[in-house]
Amino acid sequence: MTASSARLGRVPELPEVQALVDFLAERTVGLAVTGVELGSFSVLKTFDPPPQALTGAPVDAVSRHGKFIDIDCDGVHLIFHLARAGWLRWSDAVPNTVLRPGKSPIALRVRFSDSSGFDLTEAGTKKRLAAYLVRDPQEVPGIASLGPDPLAPEFTREAFGQLLAGRRSQIKGLLRDQGFIAGVGNAYSDEILHVAKMSPFAMAASLDDEAVDRLYAALRDTLAAAVATASGKPAKELKDAKRAGMRVHGRTGETCPVCGDIVREVSFADSSLQYCATCQTGGKPLADRRMSRLLK
Ligand SMILES: [Zn+2]
Repeated sequence: MTASSARLGRVPELPEVQALVDFLAERTVGLAVTGVELGSFSVLKTFDPPPQALTGAPVDAVSRHGKFIDIDCDGVHLIFHLARAGWLRWSDAVPNTVLRPGKSPIALRVRFSDSSGFDLTEAGTKKRLAAYLVRDPQEVPGIASLGPDPLAPEFTREAFGQLLAGRRSQIKGLLRDQGFIAGVGNAYSDEILHVAKMSPFAMAASLDDEAVDRLYAALRDTLAAAVATASGKPAKELKDAKRAGMRVHGRTGETCPVCGDIVREVSFADSSLQYCATCQTGGKPLADRRMSRLLK
């Protein structure tokens, strides 16, 4: 397995982020923040209020906006997005040594009043992990532009149909678009389309009522099942649990669990999608130059 395929399917999306929110809420609500340290100055995208504003503040709530995690500390919100290579590492007893900015993979450390805390870490050289300290979550640009949450009660079949109507975009790209719906990324969009038996390249505006029914059910059921699976798991197990639950995403060359056909891939410059031709494209493989080379 190459480094890039090992990473496939392990980027946190809505279900893992929800599980992290539940995990953090259970452990931190009611505690006070005793310190915020930066291991990387570039991780914090805001300058007012400063990190010291959190010191002594009680944690009132932990919530989610799409893939953003929001820790509300007495009206000051510490918000972060784990991006592609970021992760949260929880510790029941955080080391006393002060984090120093530099070469550490730890970008940000938060300490709580019972000596517990967490580190936000980021592997690799492309630093995309982003944290914000704001008084209103809507001040975070990526939150202000989010589409509706697909698991919210008001996200009905009718609402979904209205969002899709007139959209001249391929459905795969649309599902991943955070401004269209919030929280779905490359992995769950592959899974949802596989469950819906739909081509990733189907045009949104051309879906008939029956196809929208199928896609809506697949979207809600896939995410709800993944939330149920992730819920209650410790932070360190979530990435592997996510990967293990995938039917087609990240499984190029393996067997489709529904029909037994081979899982195929279409690769792009910085990502790839996986699908089953028998289940999703009438048995006709989608064009992919790299894949056809592999299968020769
Ligand atoms: Zn199949």
